[in-house]
Amino acid sequence: MATQPTDSDSIREQCPSCGGNTPHEVRVEIRTESRKDENVAFSREPYRIAVCEECGAETATRMNNA
Ligand SMILES: [Zn+2]
Repeated sequence: MATQPTDSDSIREQCPSCGGNTPHEVRVEIRTESRKDENVAFSREPYRIAVCEECGAETATRMNNA
């Protein structure tokens, strides 16, 4: 069996700060947003958080495309 370095928790992604493909730690976070222009006080949205392991830059992407 070939032994290859596998990073179980990290994936390689483009980092806008580093300007290259760097390992990122990815997690999903439920963030509560307040919307002042609506009667809905709080909205919970799932975000995909990718943290660059090189520079620590955090990229949050809303998973709900609504
Ligand atoms: Zn980076």
